[in-house]
Amino acid sequence: MDYDVDVVVAGGGPVGLMLACELRLGGARVAVLERLTEVNPTIKGGAITMPSAEALYRRGMLPELAEVHRQAMDRFQAFMREQNSGGGAEGQGLGIVGHFAGIMLRANLVDRTEPGLGDAGPAAEIAFVAQQDIERLLGGRADELGVDVRRGVELTGFDADDGAVTVRTSHGAVRAGWLVGCDGGRSAVRKLEGFDFPGTDPEITCHQAVVEMTGAEGLKVGWTATDTGVYAYGPMPGRVVTVEFDGPPADRDAPVSAEDLQDRLRRVSGMDVTITGVRTATRFTDHARQVTEYRKGRVLLAGDAAHVHSAFGSQGLSLGIGDAMNLGWKLAAVIGGRAPEGLLDTYTSERLPVGAWVLDWTRAQVAAMRPDPQSRGPCERSSATW
Ligand SMILES: Cc1cc2nc3c(=O)[nH]c(=O)nc-3n(C[C@H](O)[C@H](O)[C@H](O)COP(=O)(O)OP(=O)(O)OC[C@H]3O[C@@H](n4cnc5c(N)ncnc54)[C@H](O)[C@@H]3O)c2cc1C
Repeated sequence: MDYDVDVVVAGGGPVGLMLACELRLGGARVAVLERLTEVNPTIKGGAITMPSAEALYRRGMLPELAEVHRQAMDRFQAFMREQNSGGGAEGQGLGIVGHFAGIMLRANLVDRTEPGLGDAGPAAEIAFVAQQDIERLLGGRADELGVDVRRGVELTGFDADDGAVTVRTSHGAVRAGWLVGCDGGRSAVRKLEGFDFPGTDPEITCHQAVVEMTGAEGLKVGWTATDTGVYAYGPMPGRVVTVEFDGPPADRDAPVSAEDLQDRLRRVSGMDVTITGVRTATRFTDHARQVTEYRKGRVLLAGDAAHVHSAFGSQGLSLGIGDAMNLGWKLAAVIGGRAPEGLLDTYTSERLPVGAWVLDWTRAQVAAMRPDPQSRGPCERSSATW
């Protein structure tokens, strides 16, 4: 079959770039279409899970990740010292492996005999890697491997049949053997191909931002549950999160203003904080949905295109990296004639339960954070610090 490339990956976020690298390693010719001309600088992911760190370690990226992690730890520790928050030696470590609904999961309580947790080698030390750093590192690796990354190019439509996919873009058409939608939570590929996307509607509005402010001395470092919601402060200067249970945002695309953030932070924390500048800010909800199959013929999905959920517990990017690791070698093997097409069915059967588990995990956190007496049972109304 006469294709321009074997695979078009729509979306050059972390998952699209990771998948493209995996496909190239398996010998496939790949083009990544990314509508943005630069990596999106808006604050999003700040941490990766141990399986993701291990996957990137296996691909030779440990030194760069370790350096990014070290720089993040230096910033966190400087902040904790400045706050004199009582994080102490444990906080310096940071001594945690994550959190559930703001309840810190202490590293010394992790059962390292649990399969998958005990043997990550040096990757076990890596946790705090910002999404932009992952995208920058994966972008460099994609270039090294010969992935054709086309920035400033948007997928606008496609026609798929049994033999090929013709992808229409803002810069002309590309004919490929396969199309993988890694185009995020509002995936055009998912919608155009008509994937079912069942799930639960949002009930909360959350913001994460890095701001300049006065009056921050009154804020508790860590996650704090109050009668009006939950807020987090730290572990770096000016980083705040607010969680409010007053329904989803009226306009989810409206820019996040300093006034709005200030109102929310005052409302949830009860502190007279004044926000004087916003360096970066994002809004998110607990919208939780997942496709029922990850493949329809020659069209597949990975990452947020296949599943969306709240950001609690820092799971989404890593879930997508897992999708990419699972799909990459399989699709490359099918393209290279080393495996039958039926192998691709295992992509859905293996990744769908993992995604469903993460959705439930995030829903459970929202339930535990609700500021009503019934839900607050397991959580203390106090600061859980790093
Ligand atoms: C506040 C917040 C904090 C988070 N923290 C964490 C965390 O700590 N750890 C974690 O693991 N996850 C975290 N997440 C989740 C994480 O950000 C996402 O899961 C991750 O970005 C998903 O990656 P992706 O590549 O699937 O999608 P995206 O990152 O959304 O990338 C999709 C890409 O596709 C491009 N695109 C879209 N449509 C088109 C088109 N038609 N044509 C061409 N290009 C297109 C977009 O420009 C974008 O670059 C957080 C999310 C939020 C909102």
